[in-house]
Formats: sequence, C-alpha cells, structure tokens
Amino acid sequence: MTAPRPLNLPDAFTRRVGQTLGPDLPAFLAALGTPAPVSIRLNAAKGVTVTGLERVPWSEAGYYLPARPLFAADPRWHAGGYYVQEASSMFLEKAFARAVAGVDEPVVLDLAAAPGGKSTHLAALLPEGGLLVANEVIRARAHILAENLAKWGTGNAVVTHNDPADFGRLPGLFDVMLVDAPCSGEGLFRKEPDAVREWSEANVQLCSERQQRILADAWATLKPGGVLIYSTCTYEAAENEDNLRWLLAREDVENVPIPLDPAWGVEEIAVGPLTGYRFWPHRVAGEGLFMAAVRKTSGDASSRRGRKGGLPLATRKELGPVAGWLRNPDAVDWLKWNDKLVAIPAGNREAAEQIFGHLKVVYAGTEAAELVRTQANPLPGLALSIHRAPGAFPAQELDPETALRYLRREDVVPEALPNGWGLVSCAGLPLGWVKRIGNRANNYWPKEWRLRMDLADALRAEAPVIPFS
Ligand code: SAM
Repeated sequence: MTAPRPLNLPDAFTRRVGQTLGPDLPAFLAALGTPAPVSIRLNAAKGVTVTGLERVPWSEAGYYLPARPLFAADPRWHAGGYYVQEASSMFLEKAFARAVAGVDEPVVLDLAAAPGGKSTHLAALLPEGGLLVANEVIRARAHILAENLAKWGTGNAVVTHNDPADFGRLPGLFDVMLVDAPCSGEGLFRKEPDAVREWSEANVQLCSERQQRILADAWATLKPGGVLIYSTCTYEAAENEDNLRWLLAREDVENVPIPLDPAWGVEEIAVGPLTGYRFWPHRVAGEGLFMAAVRKTSGDASSRRGRKGGLPLATRKELGPVAGWLRNPDAVDWLKWNDKLVAIPAGNREAAEQIFGHLKVVYAGTEAAELVRTQANPLPGLALSIHRAPGAFPAQELDPETALRYLRREDVVPEALPNGWGLVSCAGLPLGWVKRIGNRANNYWPKEWRLRMDLADALRAEAPVIPFS
C-alpha cells in the first residue's frame, strides 16, 4: 500500500528518502500530510510560565501548543517572553549541555545564526559569565538576529555580520561552535512549500560542498578540546553523515555522545566512531533534523591576542549618566561603542578584545544608552533586558489593546507616567520607552520593529491558545 503524496514531492526525493527509510517510507509520507506541531520555548529569565501544556521532551522550556495562534497579536511575543521554535531544534539543549560541561565562562560561536532560534536558546543556556557570538553572513538577516536577541534580553550575546572565513582571524577562540548549516531543507517540507519547490539533487550536492567549505573555514576558530555541534534540517547523507566522515578524515576529532531517552523516538546513526542523531516527523513530534557533536582533539592552542584598543571600554565619567540603570553593574564590562553605552558580561575581556578587534559587530550585549551631546537616552535593549535595575525608571502597565497600539508606534499617552523617560509593559513584561512631555508622549518603539498588522485584525485574532500562568 502506498501512502498519498501530499506535497507534490519530487520523485527523486521520495526515491532517496525511501532508500534510507525502507518499510517506514509510507509512515513518513503520511506524516508529511499532517500539520506540523506548533511549539514555543519560554524565556524563563523573564519569568514566563504556562500551565497544562505538553512539554517538548528534550527541552526544559519547550512546550507544544494545541493550535497556532497569531503570535504577532500577542504583546508577550514582542517582549521576548517566548520564542516560536520548531521542537526538534530544541535538542540543541542536550548537545550543548554535553559540549559545555566543565567549562567556566565559555565563549560560544553560533556561526549561521539568523533568525536566532538556536542563538536565543544558547543565550538562555549559557552559564553565568559566558559570551555568545551570534554570526550571520547575510546583512538583513543579521539585523533580524539582533532584534530577536535584544528582545530575548539576556545581554550575553554579540551579533556579528561576517563570512565564516573571517573567523580564521580568531584561531582557538571558541569553546563551543554551533554550525547550523544552510541546507536543502527537506526537514521543513511540510512547513515551507518553497523548500519543496527549490529541492533538487544538484542542490543537495551544492549544499554539501558549501557545508564542507563552511566547516573548513571555521575549524581553526574552535579551541583544541572545544566542541563542534553540527546540525542541518535535512535527511541527506551527503549533508550529514558524509560531512562527518569528511571531517573525520581531515581533522583529529572524537565523539561527544548525546544522551537519549528511547521514548523520544530519535534515531541514532553510527558514523565510524562518531554518532549522528536524526529526527523523523513520523517518529517524533517535530520536524526533520540532524545533529552531531564532536570534540577537536588537536590544534594550535595559542589564541591570538586582540588588536590593541579592540575593546572600546567606557570611562567612569562616560558612565555617569547610566549609573544605577543595571541591576548588577559589577558583572559587566561597559563599552562606549558607536556613541552607545553597551554592557557585555565581564570575565571574557580577552575574547571580547578579539571579537571587537577583528569582526564586524552589529549588536552587543545590553545596549543601554545612546549618547546625545551630554545626555544618555535609554535604548530599546535596556527596556527588554533582564539586567535592568528595577525601579530605575517609572513604569506603567498597558492593557493588551494599548500595548498593540504602542507596538504599531501609535501615540500612546500613559497617564500615570511623569514627564521624561518611562517604561511601558504588558502582562508584566517590559516592552519599551516613551518620553512624556506634558499631555503627549513620544513613542520610542523602534521603527524597524513596528507591528505592521492592522489593529482591528490583531484584536480580532482568536483568543490566545497559550495558557500563561
Ligand atoms: N540557526 C538559525 C536558527 O536556529 O534560527 C537558522 C540558520 S539557517 C539553517 C542557516 C543560516 O546560514 C541562514 O541564516 C543563512 O543566511 C546562513 N548562510 C547562508 N549561506 C551561508 C554561508 N555560505 N556561510 C554561512 N552562513 C550561510
């Protein structure tokens, strides 16, 4: 009996995946004909909790939703209260726990990071004092990545816009490197019809070659003893197992096994001494994914010194206006960078020297203030930050409708706020700034983040199906 082909799948794809799956092929094809599960990952650092939802088994903060709400109509989503992320991808949590075990204040690279699902996850998992470099080669996507990390609010990430080859300037810098490689996207077929249209055998081959180029370019930036986490959202051996074999033939690596619960339904694949983990949509509640972790066992341990003056540390005098804006100012290094005062986790000064000295940084840590002549104006990143000192600014809670108007950058006058800078929030989650001037107020929600949805449509959206507690 053959299952229906719901998505007009290319014959060559069905043949190839059938060779891997054998008798499981009909179950796989049938799964592609069902809707993809919807899942979110909560921002625990912002205190967001839910009740009565099924948890994603391999992630503490991941939950399945019974239906897909209109996320853009939910102010909590704009406030970084949660991230909408496909469940299989959250397996990163298990791989990262192994990769980072025993490393103090790790320096972590997410090499292909936009739009930021895995970066926000790494930022949430990073131990105190750790630093994440979230990199994206495509400029517009690097800005979306910065927006998502600013909203997430953990302040422990620096967003860079570089080609993987640029990381050759930073040998031996990173304790962990995630390469979530651009791929043929077979695992996204039921969510993204474009991925089906763009699929071809030739493209699989191109993707495989590009993945090897990315790995070869970035390999030197991983510390000896450091761990590479490699992932794709495709089933192709050429992009997964074969790339592990290719790496094994070129470099000294050893396996980093990721503990599994058999009930999860994840397939374990032996690739010589290495192990790959594959997610199939008919076996797990999630989309197609491949992940593996390997430790680099040799290489040059001497990491290069930062460029002198690479890190633009702020002076005490420059910090005067922002004294008291952060909860724990001793835990950060303050930088004066592009007329902004930004705070990054202290403790990784040497790594930060190198990052600022050699890479194109587009967003850094907690962007707290913009310096305009003698004034320091608070920035959106501070409003959304988990590190902002409570009580540093007057604040007012908005009802959901007013919050949506604020997110659309309409004029909203929070009557309880005094003149000057004030913070508005919704459902207890801070959103952004207003500046009250008498009976009006300027709206400082960033133009680029403006909610473009019609207010009436947003208000008409079905009651949220997320049972926040
Ligand atoms: N990690 C992201 C997340 O979880 O949200 C998804 C990353 S997506 C699978 C792959 C990324 O690689 C894309 O953002 C894409 O722009 C980027 N990319 C495309 N070509 C690249 C290249 N040659 N080198 C590095 N990154 C590339």
